[in-house]
Parts: sequence; structure tokens; C-alpha cells
Amino acid sequence: MTLLTHDEYKAIAKGLDLPTCAYIDGAYRPARSGATFATTNPATGETLCQVAACDGQDLDFAVQKARDAFEDGRWSRLPPSQRKDCLIRLCKLITRNARELAVMESLDSGKTIYDCETVDVPETIACLKWHAEAIDKIYDQLAPASDDHLALVLREPIGVVGLVLPWNFPLLMLAWKIGPALAAGCSVIVKPAQETSLTALKIAELASEAGIPRGVLNVLPGSGPDLGAPIGRHMDIDLVSFTGSTVTGKRFLSYAAESNAKEIVLEMGGKNPAIVLDDAENLDRVAQHVVNGAFWNMGENCSATSRLIVHAAVKDALLARIAHHARQWNVGDPLDPETRLGALVSEAHFAKVCSYLDKAETLVFGGKADKGFVEATLVEVSSSDHPLAREEIFGPVLSVITVASAEEAIRIANDSDYGLCASIFTANIKKALRGARDLRAGTVTVNSFGEGDISTPFGGFKQSGFGGRDNGLHAHDQYTQLKTIWIDLADDDEEAVA
Ligand code: NAP
Ligand code: MG
Repeated sequence: MTLLTHDEYKAIAKGLDLPTCAYIDGAYRPARSGATFATTNPATGETLCQVAACDGQDLDFAVQKARDAFEDGRWSRLPPSQRKDCLIRLCKLITRNARELAVMESLDSGKTIYDCETVDVPETIACLKWHAEAIDKIYDQLAPASDDHLALVLREPIGVVGLVLPWNFPLLMLAWKIGPALAAGCSVIVKPAQETSLTALKIAELASEAGIPRGVLNVLPGSGPDLGAPIGRHMDIDLVSFTGSTVTGKRFLSYAAESNAKEIVLEMGGKNPAIVLDDAENLDRVAQHVVNGAFWNMGENCSATSRLIVHAAVKDALLARIAHHARQWNVGDPLDPETRLGALVSEAHFAKVCSYLDKAETLVFGGKADKGFVEATLVEVSSSDHPLAREEIFGPVLSVITVASAEEAIRIANDSDYGLCASIFTANIKKALRGARDLRAGTVTVNSFGEGDISTPFGGFKQSGFGGRDNGLHAHDQYTQLKTIWIDLADDDEEAVA
């Protein structure tokens, strides 16, 4: 991917044709109430456009269309190879529109164009392609029942699914959910976060162009209370797969209990520790991983490294290397390809991150916050009970806790309501493996920061996750349900029916 110049990106931004309507049953439609909401560019505060504000009425219409599509089999019963072909065509169309999508994503969210061009858009395509290519390679099972029976265990698409998305990786989280959902044959209702609805709407249009039948992929913009809650409570939605905060995620369990006991899968918050032991090799490399983990995407990342738990013996040397590398994470206009830290997603979120900066006891570096932008910040905390050590900040703020042993490090790392990701840096294989075993997190990385990739399941322990995993073939389990077909083969002459 060759990056353009700042001026060239600004010119593309000016000429963008922004989608403003919901995409339901193969067409753009305004909200039935006529209501709209403003979506803004958080880097400038400017309104980009007014977007349809959907509510329960629009949802009922969309669910009916999604159900019709599911029942008549236009997608759910299509041969897997044909579903695959449609999704591969969608990937090609996204590739053709990649630059426009990257600029739209950056404008709507404050993310840097550098990340949108090099990570968000290419990984969106890679994710959809991976699930598309898997569709016609997944086999069902024959159970080891008796010789007189044939016991088939089949996966069937679960039906109509509601996908409720966060604003931090609008395209990528969309792909993580619709990739396996569409691969499985489900019909889909997507609710993007209000802050960032634009790229999901554009993808729905491209999906129709790629041949995905009407009613199968519907995207409804709208607020959490007016649209997210009705999705949770809808009697004809079979599953909700949600990514967002723990507080909101847990509401979906109540919604399901109050309505039709739909399946719920939750990917929620994190307060992810990076442990650096006294024998960690190459502290410069460790520092690069920590800095990348903490500050990538302005720390607006559920798997962001937000607690550095470091052995006293290497602390000073490590913090010096971290300070050095963090200097390269410059704050600036997200559309400038040289910028590494763009704008936080909204004024409200900026205010929340600033409230944590106000609570910082010992600032090691950074701390400057201005009109939606926050610089890379390192704060030392004296106790793991400090709010900066316990609460998810979701900004470029890393908290440092000093420890005297590996045991203390693991204990503090696990002393959290969250359990999404963790890393451990050590040259000692035994300590690394014991740490990986003992850390209560869905993903543990050794001597690196990462989330794995599309081939590995992603999700959280404790209050970071519930009910299933995104990514890998494991994600397909969310969107299918098992059916047993039991066939009697007994010889009629030999066996009387009991
Ligand atoms: P959020 O406030 O929980 O919102 C997530 C989604 O839920 C949005 O679409 C939101 O709609 C909707 N929503 C809000 N209130 C609702 C309600 N009462 N009923 C139903 N739906 C409701 O989270 P966010 O601010 O978008 O994202 C930040 C959080 O997501 C962080 O805590 C982060 O850790 C987490 N996250 C987790 C993962 C993961 O994979 N584990 C990935 C990314 C982010 P509106 O915003 O449009 O109103
Ligand atoms: Mg926006």
C-alpha cells in the first residue's frame, strides 16, 4: 500500500460521498420516523453529515426482511461454494474502494490514516476472505453411536443475528462479526456505534453489488437505547454478538432473559497487563512492544497494554527505552500520513480520558491533552488499587506498577475484573510457560504484544467475555447451532421395538 500525501488525503476527504441512510433489504432508506443524528469528525469537531436514526420500527421491518431471507434459503441454503464466491467478490469490491473507505474511517473516528490504510482496511479484507474461504471446507460429524444407528451431528446457521459494534475499529469489528455470520448462512442486522456508522453502511451497499441477496446484510445506524436495546429484546432475533464495554455487554444478558432467551456472545473491556521480569532480554525490543501495545490506536483498543508490571531491577532501564520510543508517537491531524496518534473518538470520551490524567499521581512523561488529542502518557502508580491501575481508560495512558518477583507480578496481573489479554517478557522458558498458564486471560503473548491473528480465537476470561469467541473457526460456532439426526438402522426382523 503506497501512502498518499497529506494534501492528497484532504482532497479525497472533500470529495467523499457519505452514506446517510440505513441499508435494509437491499436499499438505502431513511429512518421511518425521519429522525437523524449528526456524525462528527472528532479531529475538527465538524459535522460530517446527518445519519438516519433508526429505532424499533425500523428494526421490526429489517428483522422481518432478514427472517424472510433466512427462511426462503436465498442465502442460508445456497451451496457453500456460492456463498464463498459472493464474499470473495465483496473482498474485491472493498479492495477497489479501499482508499475511500480508509479516508471515511479516519474522518468518522479520528483514527490515523496510516492505521486505516495499513491495518484496518487490509485486515478487514483479509478477515472476510479467511472466513469466505473456510465455508466449503468445514465438515459435519458422524457420532460414534451403536452399529444399529447412524447419528449425524450437523451445524445449521442459527438464523437472524444482531451484531452490535463499538467505535474503535468500526470496519474491522464489522468484519470479525459479519465474516463468520455470513459464512454460516445467517441473516444479519448490524448496529454500528453512532460515532462511526459510515463505513458499515458503505460495506452493506458493496455487499449487494457483490451479489449477497437483499435482506441478508442490513445495517441500521441508531443509538444504544433506541436501537441497541430493542435488538437485545427482539423476539425474532436468535443471537446477539456484541463488542463494547462490560457495562453495556452485561445488559444484553438481561435483554435476553426478558425476551426470547436468545444466544448472547460478548467481547468486552480489558485492563491488560504486560509483565516484564528481571531476566527479560533486549529491553529495547521489549519497550517497542510495550509502546505499541499501549499507544496503538490512541489506546482505544480493548486489548491495549494498560498496566506495565515491571521488576524493580529493570524498571529504570526499561522506562528510559519506553520514553525514547514513545517520542515517535506524534500527535497530529489523522489525515496526515506521518501522524501516529489521531483524535480520540468524541468529546465525551476525551473528557473521560482527561479525568484519569487528573488523577495521575506521578507523571513519568506525556500528560498533555488538547481539543480531543492526548499525547502518549506514562504514569507511575503506587498501588494496584489506584483507579489508573484498575479501570479501563481506553486512551494512550499506560500505568506502571513495580514488583519484586514473578509471583507478585502474576498476582497483581490477575487482580482485575478483566481477563482479555496479557503479556509476559522473560528469557526463562519455565517462567514464561508458567506465566502463560497462570495468567487469567483469553490471549497471553510471550515476549511480544499481540492478539494472535485471524486464525486464533479471541475473547476474554472473567468480565472481558461471555459465550463464545471471535476469530478462527471458533467464531463459526457462534453463528451455528448443532442438530442431531438419529437414524435407526436396526434390522426389522431381528429387533423388536421396545
Ligand atoms: P459501548 O458504549 O458499550 O457501546 C458498544 C455498542 O453498544 C454501541 O453500538 C452502543 O451504541 C451500544 N449501546 C450502548 N448503550 C446501549 C444500551 N443501553 N443497550 C444496547 N446497546 C447499547 O462501548 P464503546 O464505547 O462503543 O466501546 C468501547 C468499549 O468497547 C471499551 O470498553 C472496550 O474495551 C470495548 N471493546 C472490546 C472489544 C473486545 O473485543 N473485547 C473490542 C473493542 C472494544 P451507541 O454508542 O451508538 O449509542
Ligand atoms: Mg464520527
